[in-house]
Amino acid sequence: MLIKNLAPLPIALVASLGAATVTPEAPPAPAAETAALNRALDDISADEIKADIFFIASDAMGGRDTVTAEQQIAARFIKARLSYLGFQPGNGDKFLYEYPLDQKALDRDSLTAHIGGQEPLTYGTDYCMPDSFGVGDLTTDAGVVYCGEGGSKDFRSEELAGKWALVDWDEQNIYRLRSRARKADAVGVLIAPAPEFEGTGMMERFRGSDEGSFTGRVSYPSSSNGGRPSRPVFPILILTKQARADLVANSELTQGKAIDGTFAESRTIKGGGQVMAENVCGFWPGSDPELKNEVLIVSAHYDHVGTRDGVVYNGADDNGSGTTGLMAVASALKEYGPMRRSVMLIWVSGEEKGLWGSKAWATNPSLPEGARAVANINIDMIGRNASNELYLTPSPDHKDFGGLTRLGEKFGLEEGFGDFPAAHKQGLQGLGSADPYYQRSDHAEFAKMGIPVCFFFAGEHEDYHQPGDTPDKIDYDKIHRVSRTVVKMLDALQTDTLDL
Ligand SMILES: [Zn+2]
Repeated sequence: MLIKNLAPLPIALVASLGAATVTPEAPPAPAAETAALNRALDDISADEIKADIFFIASDAMGGRDTVTAEQQIAARFIKARLSYLGFQPGNGDKFLYEYPLDQKALDRDSLTAHIGGQEPLTYGTDYCMPDSFGVGDLTTDAGVVYCGEGGSKDFRSEELAGKWALVDWDEQNIYRLRSRARKADAVGVLIAPAPEFEGTGMMERFRGSDEGSFTGRVSYPSSSNGGRPSRPVFPILILTKQARADLVANSELTQGKAIDGTFAESRTIKGGGQVMAENVCGFWPGSDPELKNEVLIVSAHYDHVGTRDGVVYNGADDNGSGTTGLMAVASALKEYGPMRRSVMLIWVSGEEKGLWGSKAWATNPSLPEGARAVANINIDMIGRNASNELYLTPSPDHKDFGGLTRLGEKFGLEEGFGDFPAAHKQGLQGLGSADPYYQRSDHAEFAKMGIPVCFFFAGEHEDYHQPGDTPDKIDYDKIHRVSRTVVKMLDALQTDTLDL
């Protein structure tokens, strides 16, 4: 699941969806088809899902950041399973769907910093920067305003515009400091331990985390992003106690007031390059000569946020749960045999960075000649919270609620979801509404293809995007039941005509 403020996306237009229409009761399925469905449902195993998550979300997989060697291993693990199950490659003759990302890195030799008029500081000894806060060309030379511990009131000084904010370190959230300082029109943040701070090793702690800035950070190419420029770098620097003492040596520190002196910092990026990220696509061809050209897309992102400061973010729920749930769907399809329509299973990368993998695929779909996507079911974070807690979007309250999500609701209820306090609070007796998350996972990109989508999500929890999102806390039976729900939906989507 994508962090909320990372990449605001325009409201997707699902142009093909008109007013909801009532689907007449379908006639009972012939016995042979019922047998196929039962075989498929019986195949889905909570134990197999558990074994798969303990691999996908193991420490050895390093949190599956886009793009890392561990993520590539995860992709090949999924590919091997698809191959074993008899799936066709979903991208021509390949299971892997590559898409390009821009990559840039800071030039370590370019870094300079100095306190006005003094000898230059040495990077890694006197100062450093936390990772992900500054890969770009930038020179900043400005006065400095003392902002205490950097609470929201501490940034209210009118003097701050155009100057650095100097903040005393007490384990504050750096993202929050950055956003407050940015709002106050500061040019950057200098964080240093206050003289009385006794915590350990700020330099050690942050110096280790900057490695990605030098080895290269990836971004979705702006040319394929509607030309939207990425946000300019906003510098955040960590200073040692000594560097701070030198900086404020001539000043009486007063909250909200400029100190006597300036601070300058400069950085340059090395020439840009390109790196390929991977989605994994498995195709399950349909048996009907006509309907096989209508492709049902089922998706889950397999990336997570990687390793930070040496700590692995396992992402067992986010989205090991959807990743392995989709593998269980693949296995069930093998038992089912061909459906009338074709099914494309897609494990996308780059979701946590801004829905990159689904955006790349939806922009340039890998479908067989003459085939078109007709619907998307997406699963992301389906393994935590109460056993009956499951949310869906578009919900009955959403303008795009239709035949597809009606099936999701129906089979979700059949599998024991719904009727829980958080849904009651939303005024819903069945599944809860995931409408507030409509823009936050990959279905949002598939919806831009003009197809109906259905997103299943089991809710946030205290381990969301934390190192504590580990396999031991997962409800495996829950993933098993969401996977069954998806397979029942696929089975129900084999009627002559679709009313979605
Ligand atoms: Zn996430």
